[in-house]
Amino acid sequence: MARELFCDHCERTLTSTAYRVISEDPGGVLLNMLVCHPCNQKARELGLETREITLDELQLKRG
Ligand SMILES: [Zn+2]
Repeated sequence: MARELFCDHCERTLTSTAYRVISEDPGGVLLNMLVCHPCNQKARELGLETREITLDELQLKRG
C-alpha cells in the first residue's frame, strides 16, 4: 500500500522520517530534495535550510 520512498541524494530507503532540503534565492527555488537523516545532517553543515517531514505527510500529499 505505502510506496517506498528513497533519498534523493544517496538513494537509501527512507524510513519514518525524511527531510526536505530547500534552497531559495530571489529568483526562485534552487533546490528541493527529499533526503534521509545522514544527508540532512550534511545539508545542515553546508548551511542549507532543512525541514523535517513525516512519511505520512508525504504519502498524503502525493495521493
Ligand atoms: Zn541520503
